[in-house]
Amino acid sequence: MRKLADLITTNDMGEMLEHIHAMIALVERDGTLVSWNRAFETYKAKSPLAEKLQDCFSQKEKDKVCDKLNIAQRDQFVIEFGVDEEARTIFCDCILIPLASGGALFIAEHVDTDTSLQKIVQNLKEEIKVFQAESEFIKKFAHNKQIEINAIMAQANELSHVDALTFLPNRRLVVRELQSEVLRAERYNSQLSISVADVDFFKRVNDTHGHIAGDEVLRHVAYQLRDHIRHPDMVGRYGGEEFLILLPNTKSSAAEEQAGRLTTQVRDTIVELYEHSLKITISMGIAQFQSGVDNWESLVKRADNAMYEAKSKGRDRWVVAS
Ligand code: GH3
Ligand code: MG
Ligand code: MG
Repeated sequence: MRKLADLITTNDMGEMLEHIHAMIALVERDGTLVSWNRAFETYKAKSPLAEKLQDCFSQKEKDKVCDKLNIAQRDQFVIEFGVDEEARTIFCDCILIPLASGGALFIAEHVDTDTSLQKIVQNLKEEIKVFQAESEFIKKFAHNKQIEINAIMAQANELSHVDALTFLPNRRLVVRELQSEVLRAERYNSQLSISVADVDFFKRVNDTHGHIAGDEVLRHVAYQLRDHIRHPDMVGRYGGEEFLILLPNTKSSAAEEQAGRLTTQVRDTIVELYEHSLKITISMGIAQFQSGVDNWESLVKRADNAMYEAKSKGRDRWVVAS
């Protein structure tokens, strides 16, 4: 078979270049555009001021074209030619053929990708966008839930240290505080006293007026104690009708003053129940921490024993542990 180039004349060649869909441009080695066909003109119309081949493309592709212009051999590559009216990226298969005259011939043809494949790619891109938006939402949602969980945990932690009947610190918290006060007193050789207060004849209140009245009496005593101790003293509900008071940096003589005040306060305030008014008293035992001898348990034990001594001496009074 004879070669096509041998059969067509220069005129035929000119016609042919004008009518084919491939974009063809003759450029100098630095990319300066010398001549181009109609297909290239249509594309170049988007960048009318472009004087060089590379100026017809986006910055990303421009660098690639410049690189290719610097290569002295024929080189084939793919570049992006922007997007079509459906926002799909147009790719072109390009070739730069160095000419003996010193310039180069640039030929570019659309890569005719399968449209159904393009649709799939397009759909996938949209799904990715939706997924990205959803994942942002989920991240925010999870962050807000974490804040809620932290708040609930903080509340739960708080509640786990509060006595539900009297709202005083419960046994767990008051013992924890006592343990750290004992450590502090030992380390800094500071003073520490504690008092145990127990409601007198409380069983009688329950038996005579019922448990609800008993609860009311407990709340009443708890508020009297809470409202008549001084900072940084602390009172907590240690057991059924027994309260523990911590007096950091305090000698037993000062704890006695406080016990005098508290027993008087409880004795002098009447508990108003629905049908009855009750007079309540408490007995108290005081113990001062002895460094090198006591731990928190022995300290409570000594205060407890002193409290029982107060009971045996007639109640409504306090006794200091020896
Ligand atoms: P004493 O003067 O010797 O302390 O006598 P008491 O009756 O106060 O002591 P006792 O230990 O015999 O009774 C304490 C009672 O406290 C027994 C128990 O049923 C009651 N109690 C313990 N916790 C609660 C509570 O939360 N509510 C009520 N209503 N009663 C309680
Ligand atoms: Mg008791
Ligand atoms: Mg009692």
